[in-house]
Amino acid sequence: MVDFNRNGYINSKGDFDIAEGFARRVDSMRASEIRALFAVANRPEIISLAGGMPYLGKLPFDEISKIMETLVREHGPKLWQYGVAQGDEELRETITKIVELEGLDATAQETVITAGSQQGLDSITRLFCDAGDVILAEAPNYVGALGVFRSYQVEVVNVELDEEGIILAKLEKTIINTRARGKRIKFLYSVPNFQNPSGITLAVDRRKPLVELCKKYGIMILEDNPYGLLSFDGQLYPTLRQHWKEGVIYLGSFSKFIAPGFRIGWIISPDSVRDKLVLSNESVLLCPSNASSLTIEAYLKHFDWKTQLSAYREGYKDRCNQMIETIDELLPNCKYNKPKGGFFLWLEMPEGSGVNSKDFLEAAVEAGVAYVPGTGFYDNGDGENFMRLSFCYPSVEEIEQGITRLANALKKTYPEVKF
Ligand code: PMP
Repeated sequence: MVDFNRNGYINSKGDFDIAEGFARRVDSMRASEIRALFAVANRPEIISLAGGMPYLGKLPFDEISKIMETLVREHGPKLWQYGVAQGDEELRETITKIVELEGLDATAQETVITAGSQQGLDSITRLFCDAGDVILAEAPNYVGALGVFRSYQVEVVNVELDEEGIILAKLEKTIINTRARGKRIKFLYSVPNFQNPSGITLAVDRRKPLVELCKKYGIMILEDNPYGLLSFDGQLYPTLRQHWKEGVIYLGSFSKFIAPGFRIGWIISPDSVRDKLVLSNESVLLCPSNASSLTIEAYLKHFDWKTQLSAYREGYKDRCNQMIETIDELLPNCKYNKPKGGFFLWLEMPEGSGVNSKDFLEAAVEAGVAYVPGTGFYDNGDGENFMRLSFCYPSVEEIEQGITRLANALKKTYPEVKF
């Protein structure tokens, strides 16, 4: 008898169904709560505190147009041609100057250009993780990283945070317990600065001890730092990589301090990893975009980007202050950590209030405001009493309006709760 299902494409009715042929890893790919929200949050009457889009209104568009025009005219053939898999060398050289501001001493050779740090996350997970391996990750965690980890069938084990970042004693306990289960821990994933979604920054005096702890247990660290330059007061924090070059891989990005549309980020890693990363770029992208790389390179060279960066910082600080002020006034019993930079505030509902941020979203949208329910940032259903509120995109006035709508809707939906 012919086995019609030998290629796995037959559904329960016995018909050919192309989606039946998906690999097993596809089962773990799910649309993120944020993605699902975008359609709603983008409606004009809704004030969206949901997405993490940087505010680009103050980008020097005239300057960028001039730069692009000159590039096309003078370097058109290179601009639109395939490039090298590791990425443009001049841009890699410039990136080493940028990370030097944070105290990281890196070389162009150690640097690989990616299509945003999201691709960096994917490449590193692809290179290091087999199905069933463990990644230790801050909880709550960046939803885009959780998606990548899931797609490689990795088990994510939560590491607890306090207001100063990863709690070292808890991390050690987690390592010991995970190993006792016979699991291989592939790396610790950390966003040390203005973490997405919690807004927490790892205390400076915890950084070296954190690295030492991982060193002691032989665990690589994946340091993801897209927001590092966006502190409100201009302070720059030491990287984890500068404490252990053999064991920390660093991801950076132009998305937040120039613009995400270029899709350019980078990975700085030990030489032994770099060669495989270049091969990974070759298989995924062939090469990063020359057009984007050269435009960014020219922008950094010819434009006063540090002043521009200060304008971004100021703008985000004002927005965050407005958010805090309105929360303090209208929702004084909700707790949060005051962010020192970045894009996000992690709002905790009053203890014992019974607010389920996922269930409440419909009422919030009805009232004209959107946010991301905390559950989207955990793999295990936790986080229902939290909301991620982003202050990066809406104006100061919209933030005040948005929080007011949120507060009114909360009080109307849960009249018995003291917010
Ligand atoms: N890491 C973190 C923590 C992020 O918040 C983001 C974007 N939201 C990324 C990585 C990916 O950014 P990009 O690919 O645009 O560099």
